Amino acid sequence: MNLRYAIVATSFVLLTLPVLTIGQELVRTATPSERGLTEDDFPRVQELAPDVYTYEALTGPPDDRYTTNTLFVVTEAGVLVADGQGDPEETARLVTAISRITSQPITHVVICSDHGDHTNGNASFPESAQFIAQRNSLPALERAAQDGGKLPDTVVDNRLDLRLGGREIQILFLGRAHTGGDLFIWLPDEKILFTTEVFLNHMFSGYRTAYAREWLTAMDAAEELGADMYVPGHGFVDSPAILEEEWFAYKDHLRVVLDEVTRLHGNGLTVEEAVDQADFGPYNEWSGADSQGPIGIRRIYAELNGELE
Ligand SMILES: [Zn+2]
Repeated sequence: MNLRYAIVATSFVLLTLPVLTIGQELVRTATPSERGLTEDDFPRVQELAPDVYTYEALTGPPDDRYTTNTLFVVTEAGVLVADGQGDPEETARLVTAISRITSQPITHVVICSDHGDHTNGNASFPESAQFIAQRNSLPALERAAQDGGKLPDTVVDNRLDLRLGGREIQILFLGRAHTGGDLFIWLPDEKILFTTEVFLNHMFSGYRTAYAREWLTAMDAAEELGADMYVPGHGFVDSPAILEEEWFAYKDHLRVVLDEVTRLHGNGLTVEEAVDQADFGPYNEWSGADSQGPIGIRRIYAELNGELE
């Protein structure tokens, strides 16, 4: 596969050939300032392969900015969008960016993560778009629908194979992971895998609704696909080589967290003592570790105590 890495002009950012091509020299981080990037560099759009794009927008509090990533695929029969953005304004910017690239309408929106930072802008997508989600995401989406969120038109149990304008797009559920209903987007011709929040690039994982043990199993299943590029749900869309390294680093971080919390639980520590004493080694330094670490410890305790369904 011949990846292009063109940065495409959006209405906000026009970059020529990006830092991304520097590849291995890049600082491994999810924090824009550590890359010398500012608010003005986002949102940014990259073309990963012909007609396959990512849209990265900054989110988070002023002192902890990171990207939220959308994948979109342009075909002769419409545009498929995987994961929206976290508010109607940002999703409207995404819709505008897509309209600058193609006159094709957005026909499919896949809710790969049912968390609000990927769904709260869904009202900005066209009414006519078909929304797709995994069955386990229905309770979260029904709660969000009370505040105007979108319910899916199509519910996926295990997989949905689409052929859109001659392009093959597979929507895959590979087991519970970051949420109960994470959906991957697999483009078999391009060997590009959009991983939603099952994989973040150099950011500590969010465990609020996670299934820590099954998460690793889902990643094992994803590897069976033989992807050339793992596109993360948060953190920068870097080169395929970096993303592959970071995929395995992320998996290692999940295993380290699970093992450490399991060890503390096995030693009879209370959850508060575990929050106090847990040491995740190098992953203590990742973006979000301070806030997400304790959430992860509580969630894994609940799992180990048999309190999760
Ligand atoms: Zn998220």
